[in-house]
Amino acid sequence: MSKPLIVITGASSGIGEATARTLSAAGHPLLLIARRLERLQALALPNTLCRQVDITDGAAMAAAIAEAEAQYGPVDALINNAGVMLLGQAHEQNPAEWQQMFDVNVMGLLNGIHAVLAGMRQRKRGTIINVSSIAGRKTFPNHAAYCGTKFAVHAMSENIREEVAMDDVRVITIAPGAVETELLSHTTSDDIKAGYDDWKTDMGGVLAAQDVANAIQYAYAQPQNVCIREIVLATTRQQ
Ligand code: NDP
Repeated sequence: MSKPLIVITGASSGIGEATARTLSAAGHPLLLIARRLERLQALALPNTLCRQVDITDGAAMAAAIAEAEAQYGPVDALINNAGVMLLGQAHEQNPAEWQQMFDVNVMGLLNGIHAVLAGMRQRKRGTIINVSSIAGRKTFPNHAAYCGTKFAVHAMSENIREEVAMDDVRVITIAPGAVETELLSHTTSDDIKAGYDDWKTDMGGVLAAQDVANAIQYAYAQPQNVCIREIVLATTRQQ
């Protein structure tokens, strides 16, 4: 039997890219979403639709998902992975960076959920996997707004999980510690970036994107009546 459609946001690098490769190898048709279309296409995965969508644009997200469903059938899982982390000290950070993080990490994630949830509830089947962070469970220096967005992801995930549980829709939160990806590169403060790199070195390295992809695949692959509500994973040495 052919495998059902999975939608992955932020598949153009890091965790999303590793997850796309993993779920494609497991035989799923995919819809991959990000702004850098050429990076999605360069993955060259079979049975995969690549669409250039900014996830803050809810209508564009819904249109891409409708297009993929017309081609591959109903979406069985949405992996809300796209996110930005712009670290800064609260007294000097540009508020536009706070706005961007809340727009992408919170509103963008809700846009994805909004596009798929009614269909999943109607079909009595579906899985939403929200990629949060360990920064959605505890705070770190220079992370105020980022932590705010990720604490919000945990709260929204749990709330929506309760809302849809009786329709057999699963809502799962994946909360990684530090992972080697492009995420840190968008922070503008060189001092903060250098401090973060020192922290990674001091603890002897960080997770690989594939480690997180494996956790996502594990959670998704459980029987439909088993909902792994949350996975928090980090290197053994991370505090
Ligand atoms: P990357 O920067 O490598 O990937 C981020 C992805 O998000 C890219 O594919 C990017 O694509 C996409 N993205 C960003 N903004 C938008 C947007 N407006 N619309 C569509 N796509 C967007 O970082 P990671 O792989 O590390 O990040 C993935 C998730 O993991 C994030 O939610 C992050 O918060 C979380 N996370 C990461 C950790 C880490 O240490 N790396 C730790 C804990 C959680 P494009 O630029 O092409 O649009």
